[in-house]
Amino acid sequence: MLSISKFGGSSLADSAGFRRVQAILEADPARRGAVVSAPGRRTKEDEKITDLLYYCYDLRRRGGDWREVFAAFADRVAAIVRDLALAYDVRDELARLESEVSRGVTQDYLVSRGEYFSARILASLLGWQFLDSAAWLRFTPDGSVDTVRSYGTLRKLAALPFVTPGFYGRDAGGNIRTFTRGGSDISGALAAAALDADLYENFTDVPGLLEADPALVPDAAPVRNLTYAELGELCRVGTQVLHEGTVKPLRDSGIPMRIRSTWQPDDPGTLIAPTLSAVQRRTALCLAVRRGRALLSLSNGGSGALEAALSAVRVAPDFTTAAFGRETASIPSDALHNAVDALAAQKGEYTVRDDLALIAVLFDRTQPGADAAKLLSALRESGVAVETILRPFDSRTLLLAVPDGDAPRAVHALHKAMQG
Ligand code: ASP
Repeated sequence: MLSISKFGGSSLADSAGFRRVQAILEADPARRGAVVSAPGRRTKEDEKITDLLYYCYDLRRRGGDWREVFAAFADRVAAIVRDLALAYDVRDELARLESEVSRGVTQDYLVSRGEYFSARILASLLGWQFLDSAAWLRFTPDGSVDTVRSYGTLRKLAALPFVTPGFYGRDAGGNIRTFTRGGSDISGALAAAALDADLYENFTDVPGLLEADPALVPDAAPVRNLTYAELGELCRVGTQVLHEGTVKPLRDSGIPMRIRSTWQPDDPGTLIAPTLSAVQRRTALCLAVRRGRALLSLSNGGSGALEAALSAVRVAPDFTTAAFGRETASIPSDALHNAVDALAAQKGEYTVRDDLALIAVLFDRTQPGADAAKLLSALRESGVAVETILRPFDSRTLLLAVPDGDAPRAVHALHKAMQG
């Protein structure tokens, strides 16, 4: 068994976090590869290391006093090393980095140093190999990941157990390059795919993917299992747990992922797998909400006309549907103005409905029809007028549009009906 475990910044915010992660990794012999984010916030008011580094770069570029911000970053890193009593001369490396910054460095290089030090520290704490992601994760000139080369190199260089930094790799010219923010999830998924791991574990500060947005439903519980296809549908309607590039490498390689909490490491969290047999599954009900949406429909415009018109004005729809010569797209309300201008120039008739929220409900029962009926009647009873039922993605997903102001009420009513 091989598990690749990725730890987010909140899990590694201070020395206690590193110790907690050490205990998790040492508790399971399958855990022989760790991928880490930069230390995150210790308190609500605190700064993430990555944010400090972006700020430092910005000050340096604008000729401001960057050294003070650099010192705040360096002090945090050094304090973790000191508190863990490691024999790692981090002050020396930090001093070298400071002189590199004063001579001039790229933004990607500087902001990647949070993950670099995080991985160095964890590797030294565990006595595991430190494998720099610059040595294995390669970007192509167009900015995508060269998976063939990256996977081959990681297989060659990784001496299990190892720790590698998330968030960055290097390009063909040897320069450090980062993913977009939150990209350590992708590094973790790539490492798992490269090594053909049995499991990719994503440790974060929530005990899995929750049934509903906890801001709206405080007692929302984690969903126990989902398929990658289902997760994909939820993400399109606004669920944000992972960086969007995370799923593809895992899905392509057939590797399951578990999202779990560093603070409740024995809780099974949410398992996401390519397929799940009916027997494995329990009630996997959850919902995702995306607010501030508008729906556009175009009738008799010709096949693909709506999507083409939107793309011409650079409006990216959440999704589009087509049936009986009528195409419908959901877009952010603030893109409506541009979209309507583009549609007015098309042949066919268009309609617009604004101020909506989209809700995707994923249910898993042997009688999905009965579940849908139950959910719809719960909405009716709570006084929410369903604007439209958009598209059952498959027999287990219901996609609804409701008036935006009714979204919290609709979510409550649906969540309650899901429990029964
Ligand atoms: N440290 C980076 C960020 O804050 C990447 C990550 O944590 O995944 O965005």
